[in-house]
Amino acid sequence: MDKISCIVCKKPIKFPSYIDPDDYDGHLFCHEFNLLLYIKMKSSKVKKYKVVEKQKINV
Ligand SMILES: [Zn+2]
Repeated sequence: MDKISCIVCKKPIKFPSYIDPDDYDGHLFCHEFNLLLYIKMKSSKVKKYKVVEKQKINV
């Protein structure tokens, strides 16, 4: 697993190299909408996933 769908725009986000899907607890950035997300992963499974900060979204 090296990609995850954005919870807002549903587009796949490729994990940056600093993210280890087996053990990660921190931020993830959606470049489509400039959204800061928070994700917690353990053993390639998503434990927590939420939007941290909504910036201006023009829909
Ligand atoms: Zn997104």
